[in-house]
Amino acid sequence: MLKNFIFGKRPHAEAGQTCGRRDCACTGLWGKVCDIPGGIYLPGIGEPPSLTIQDWPDYQGPLYLPLATGRTEPMVPIVQPRQPVKQGELLARDDFGHFLYAPRCGVIAEQTTKTVFGHTEQPVLALQTSADATCDVAGANPLADTVNPWQAKTDAERYDLTCQSLARTGIMIGDHGETLIDLIKRAHDHAVAVVVANAVPVEPTLNGPLAVLQEHSPEVFAGLSILKTLLRAPQALAAHSYHFPIDCATAEQWNVRCVAVTEKYPQGLPGVLLRSLNKSPRYCLKRNGAAYIFDPQTLRAVERAVLGGSLLLERIVTVAGDGVLQPGHFRVPVGLPLRALLERAGLTDDWRCVVEGASLTGRSIDPDQAVVSARSGNFMVIRNFKPVRPERCIRCGWCIMDCPAGLDPARLSTVAEMGQYRTASSLNIEACMECGICSYICPSGLPIMESIRMMKRRLHPVARTEGGPLYA
Ligand code: SF4
Ligand code: SF4
Repeated sequence: MLKNFIFGKRPHAEAGQTCGRRDCACTGLWGKVCDIPGGIYLPGIGEPPSLTIQDWPDYQGPLYLPLATGRTEPMVPIVQPRQPVKQGELLARDDFGHFLYAPRCGVIAEQTTKTVFGHTEQPVLALQTSADATCDVAGANPLADTVNPWQAKTDAERYDLTCQSLARTGIMIGDHGETLIDLIKRAHDHAVAVVVANAVPVEPTLNGPLAVLQEHSPEVFAGLSILKTLLRAPQALAAHSYHFPIDCATAEQWNVRCVAVTEKYPQGLPGVLLRSLNKSPRYCLKRNGAAYIFDPQTLRAVERAVLGGSLLLERIVTVAGDGVLQPGHFRVPVGLPLRALLERAGLTDDWRCVVEGASLTGRSIDPDQAVVSARSGNFMVIRNFKPVRPERCIRCGWCIMDCPAGLDPARLSTVAEMGQYRTASSLNIEACMECGICSYICPSGLPIMESIRMMKRRLHPVARTEGGPLYA
C-alpha cells in the first residue's frame, strides 16, 4: 500500500468504472478493459495537454529537412543551392524508396547537420523562406497524376494502384527507417491476424495519438481499413485508453473495432499493447498470425495518399512537461527547429532537460541543435530534474512486482554488471522491452534498465541462435 501511495498507483476503488460513452462499443466494466500484468500508473509530469491540435501558420524561419533515414545512407538531394522549390516538390531520394518533399515553398540553402530523432550530426537540407510572392500559389503535388484506386475494376488492379500511391510517398515506420511499402511486401510471406491503430498514450501527458484520433478519426480509420485490405488481415482494432472514448460509430463504418485498455505504463508501447490484446479471449491474436501496430499519424498519411491523392507534409507533435507553460499538440512542418517549437509552447526560463520520446525511455537532446523529423512524436521539457545517487539493492522486490515482462530485473542487472552473458540469456533478458519501470521504481536509485540495455546490445545475435560466443 505504501508503495502504491508513493508511486501513484491507482486505488482499486475505481474498479467497475465505465468507458464513459453509453453508445461506445468498448463500454464495459473494468473487467472488460484490456490490461497487462505488472506496469504502473505514472503520475505524469505537468498538466496533460488538451486534445485540440493547434496550427502554426506564421512561422517564417528556415526549415532543416532531414536527409538521413536511419536505415541506409542519407538520401541524395536532386535540387541545387539557391533553387526555388514549390510545396510538395521532390527534393531528395534514395534507392530504398525514401523520398523527401518540400513541406512548403522556398529557396534551397546550404546542406548542414542537426540532431534528428536523437542522433546528432545528421545531414539536413536547409530551406529558406522565399521573398517571391507567387511562390505560395501553386504547389507541386506528386500524387496528382495517380489514379484513384476505387476506380479500378478488379481487386488486383486496386491493390496495385494503392501500392503505387504508397510507394511514392515513402512513408517510414518504426525507428529503423523501413518504408511502409516494404513492410507490405514483407507481410506477403506470412498470415496477418490483425492490424491495430495504437492510440494509447505512452504516459498520461503524452496523449498526442488520442488528439490525432479525435480530430482526424475518419482519416485514421480509413487508413487502417486500407492497410487491413493490403495486408489481408481479417480484423482491424483501434486501441485507446478507456478514459478517452473515441468515435466508435465512425470506426464501425470502416469495419474497425474499438478496444479500451487501461492507462497503465507501458501499455502504449506496441509490444506491450499486443500482449494486452492477446490476453483477451475476444481477440486471440497469436494463434492466427502476425499483428501489425500503427500510430494514428501513419494511418492518416495512408488515407491522404490513397484516397486524398496528396502528401502529408506536416507533423503533429506533442510538447509537454512542467518546463513549458502551454503544453499542447502542434501541427508543424517537418524540419522545424525544436527551439522555435518549444518557445511557441511557452518554454520556461528554468527548464533543465529536454527529452525526445517518453520521460522514462526517451533521449535527452539539445533543443538548439534538434529539428522535428517525419518520425518525431513527443518532446518532454522537464524542470524538476533531480539526479539520484545509486545505493545498494535492499531486496524490496518492487522491480520484480512491476516488470510487465515478468522478469527479475534486480538479478538481471547484477549478472549484467558481472558480465555473465550466458546467465543473462538463460534469464530471458531478450524479453526486456526497455520500458524503464525498474529504474524508475527502484528506491535505491539503481540504473537497472541501463545495465540490462547495455547487456542486450553486447549479446551477439548469432550467438543467441547458434550457440556461439555470447557477446560481440
Ligand atoms: S526495463 Fe525491462 S526489466 Fe525493467 S521493468 Fe521494463 S521490461 Fe522489466
Ligand atoms: S533493484 Fe531496486 S527495486 Fe529491485 S529489489 Fe533491489 S532495491 Fe528493490
